[in-house]
Amino acid sequence: MFDLADLYQQVIIDHTKSPRNYGKLEPCNHDAEGYNPLCGDQLHVYLQINESSIIEDVKFEGQGCSISTASASLMTEALKGKPVSEFERLFKAFHAMATADMSEAADEEVLGKLAVLAGVKEFPARIKCATLCWHTLKSAIEDNSDVAKTE
Ligand code: ZN
Repeated sequence: MFDLADLYQQVIIDHTKSPRNYGKLEPCNHDAEGYNPLCGDQLHVYLQINESSIIEDVKFEGQGCSISTASASLMTEALKGKPVSEFERLFKAFHAMATADMSEAADEEVLGKLAVLAGVKEFPARIKCATLCWHTLKSAIEDNSDVAKTE
């Protein structure tokens, strides 16, 4: 049986119902689109990065499942006001968490609230839902005009 009870923790439900930083960011100097064909999740992320490489603002919009929405919401919340180097550090830690085997604990010290998504590794099909926003934000930062795909 596919049981989502552990996956859909309170924080995830909260971020799905009322996603933070949702909408179009204007003006923005970086943006990218992402698509997860496995689930049908679509995302568009917008970033305003200043000359000191600080993420002044970050927003997203799109249509996707609850995991992709909650993950994007949590990601934008974690990165707003942070340097781009923090994105790289968190992306690495998040990716490691999502793909680690079950016995490995998430690095909560680095991840903070993002660690609530650790449950996705029990559901391999949902890992891509959770990581889509990170791949999409990476494309935006790198000004890659291709649609970020999880495949
Ligand atoms: Zn999904």
